[in-house]
Amino acid sequence: MYGLSRRKRWPVRRRFLLPVPREVDMLKIHYSLDSELHNEILEIPAPAELNIQVRNLVLRTKKGALINKGDILAEAPSPFGGAYHASACGKVMKVNYHHMTIKCSDSETSVEPLDVQSMGTGKELLRTLQGLGVHVAPLSGRADVLIINGMNPEPGISAAQQILKDGGEYLKAGLELARKLITPGRTVLAVAKGDKSAIPGAETVGVKAKYPSSLDALVVRAVTGKEFPSDTKVISVMDLYDLGRVAVSGQPITDTIMTIAGRNYRVPLGTPIKHLLQTLDLPVASTDIVVLGGPFQGESVYSLDEGVKKTDYGLFIIPASQFPAVQDAPCINCGECVLQCPARVQPHLISRYAEYERFEQAEKHGLNSCFECGLCSFNCFSRRPLLQYIRFAKAQLQASGHGEQA
Ligand code: SF4
Ligand code: SF4
Repeated sequence: MYGLSRRKRWPVRRRFLLPVPREVDMLKIHYSLDSELHNEILEIPAPAELNIQVRNLVLRTKKGALINKGDILAEAPSPFGGAYHASACGKVMKVNYHHMTIKCSDSETSVEPLDVQSMGTGKELLRTLQGLGVHVAPLSGRADVLIINGMNPEPGISAAQQILKDGGEYLKAGLELARKLITPGRTVLAVAKGDKSAIPGAETVGVKAKYPSSLDALVVRAVTGKEFPSDTKVISVMDLYDLGRVAVSGQPITDTIMTIAGRNYRVPLGTPIKHLLQTLDLPVASTDIVVLGGPFQGESVYSLDEGVKKTDYGLFIIPASQFPAVQDAPCINCGECVLQCPARVQPHLISRYAEYERFEQAEKHGLNSCFECGLCSFNCFSRRPLLQYIRFAKAQLQASGHGEQA
């Protein structure tokens, strides 16, 4: 098992520095996880069409089917893989290996709710929650310590902070259900230092609000003082909120909370990015980079028809002039990615194995210890897409049945 980084930094004079081209006015990105909240969670209206990513999923509907809100569309085949549900009524118009397109109708019919809260604590409850789209990996099996990760996941995203402020009823219901399943002796809410948020039944602990301290493994170490303790489980405040909403409503998860231009919105899953941009009147130039997720872990989208997924907590538009393009340039062995990596793996090495499709070698050198924090890619002087190579290798191994199951 690879550990968490405590490496000493080299003195600046020993680090290999490449000049930044004059025409690139570098994006001034900060590592702070503090954000100002501007309002309540605002609703994004349902789009005319939903675009659901179904690659590597098992389809549960087909072209031409009429669906209600909450109907199951697809499931991940892995043991903890969740179910994907329709966020609006409509008709399945197109299905291919990558996407399912649904033309939305005006109907508001939803699936029948399930009485989740009165279920026992056994496997039936877990299976039911999984079927309703809940991320059940942190809920399976008991633990002595349950940590709720209430940190904003990345700089510029304030979804966690907003949920802590506005999600009281659902967080309480989610925690009740989580504690019923995990039966922890100690429950901790980890928040940014200075944040006064609280959830009844959990002690609040402050964690340094600087990325990557919001990563689960680093939050666990900050709270317990241990690396990967076997008696500890961690659940994000977003997942706890979803669990609470499922518990209260009995309905599946069909939306996500996203930070867009500094404000938080409830977005139906599968909403195309172009619908968000039009609704919020956000202009995008043809050379801009649109990123789903955060500035470190997010991925630039190749089409504005791309639909929003449950784990997308942010949308960013980055002008091309502010960021040097990622490219398949050779590694110059500067070592910066190794210094940055909080998982203490060698990103330059595992990404090169991935690039040449030697996935088993990548796995042997710590591929699965990577947290996908994105710091290696962000700081690579050659602008190599290290995180993308790492994700590619993980996806290929998973598809071939050899990788770690989600
Ligand atoms: S994304 Fe890169 S820096 Fe982050 S844990 Fe993985 S290899 Fe390390
Ligand atoms: S991958 Fe990038 S940051 Fe890492 S050693 Fe190579 S050039 Fe340096």
